[in-house]
Amino acid sequence: MNPLSDRINNLAVSQTLAMAALARELKAQGKDIISLSLGEPDFNTPEFIKEAAKKAIDENYSTYTPVEGYLDLKEAICRKFKRDNNLDYKPSQIVVSTGAKQSLYNIAQVMLNEGDEVILPAPYWVSYYEIIKLSGGVPVEVPTSIENDFKITPEQLEAVITPKTKMIWYSSPCNPSGSVYSREELEALSKVILKHENIYVVSDEIYEHINFSGTFCSIGSIPGMLDRTITVNGVAKAFAMTGWRIGYIGAPEFIAKACTKIQGQVTSGANSIAQRATIAAVDADPKVLNYMVEAFHKRRDLVVGLIKEIPGLKINVPEGAFYVFPDVSSFFGKTLRGQFIKDATDFSMYLLAEANVATVTGDAFGNPNCIRFSYATSEELLIEALRRIKEALA
Ligand code: PMP
Ligand code: GLU
Repeated sequence: MNPLSDRINNLAVSQTLAMAALARELKAQGKDIISLSLGEPDFNTPEFIKEAAKKAIDENYSTYTPVEGYLDLKEAICRKFKRDNNLDYKPSQIVVSTGAKQSLYNIAQVMLNEGDEVILPAPYWVSYYEIIKLSGGVPVEVPTSIENDFKITPEQLEAVITPKTKMIWYSSPCNPSGSVYSREELEALSKVILKHENIYVVSDEIYEHINFSGTFCSIGSIPGMLDRTITVNGVAKAFAMTGWRIGYIGAPEFIAKACTKIQGQVTSGANSIAQRATIAAVDADPKVLNYMVEAFHKRRDLVVGLIKEIPGLKINVPEGAFYVFPDVSSFFGKTLRGQFIKDATDFSMYLLAEANVATVTGDAFGNPNCIRFSYATSEELLIEALRRIKEALA
């Protein structure tokens, strides 16, 4: 008998983390792997943030923190929400957590009852699906395609709403597609949402600053939507702080309180030093991030250009985050170097075996036709990775 719970037996492993681990393992065995699997900036955390952390250590920020986060950090997050997103939150509406992943987990745990439906425009970030399932929710996938830039329409949204619909979860800029919803597009979706009482939106804005489109809209800033929205953000991506583990939400107060309640029983307040450093991060003018954003923009152009040169790969131009999500379905049913490619997972494993390049299958993100490349790595490695891929597919 398997002594583990049904809960864990029914949980899929995170395929982003699994692919990153496999790439690491192969590297350790001496293979020359280029990993484009993990979404992780290759920059160092900016100096001014590191200085704030060092100061916090010297000032003995070493005790338990308030479960919902330091008050001055929550105040700084409120200023950030106002400055960047035109969102009016009070500190009592903010909860700081151990990464945006925990923020999302808290939300699912406090919002979902068994059988509640959560609409997921696909492709969606890999962990949404499992976090929702783990909380008893039922993910309802809404497929999109490269032709409509991987975005859902108001008609598609309306069509999947049922009396059981509780939430809609999405990210913009999107992981994995890089798509960015415009204000007009979000207004049209909000019209549908506002017709239905008690549907809440999770707006995952963790890639907010890694955005080349010149526009960004938080759905909570649309009239009527603030009370229906949980805005999720964090410092991992824009500030190159993936290991510091700080995420946060702005939410209706009763939801923030509930998230604090669960966090108080599970992890307590987030790391003290990282919270002090996060004050410096969120208080800074986002212009300080320009050098990273410009580098990602340049790499985006490079990668899109190189992929367009590879016959059989179809790609749109993602407007944000640091991923490209080409459609590889033209290879399905074909045999490459003696290996039959049945689906995106086979394709991704073929690239790992034959090109020594690690990617993540689109299946993990609810799109079986695509694979994801993270371009958060040097131009030199990106050029080499795509040269190898082109050769392996020739
Ligand atoms: N949301 C999205 C869309 C992400 O790509 C990630 C990546 N880790 C997260 C949330 C979680 O972020 P964190 O590292 O802060 O937990
Ligand atoms: N969010 C990143 C990614 O999608 C990091 C890995 C993870 O947290 O799953 O690759």
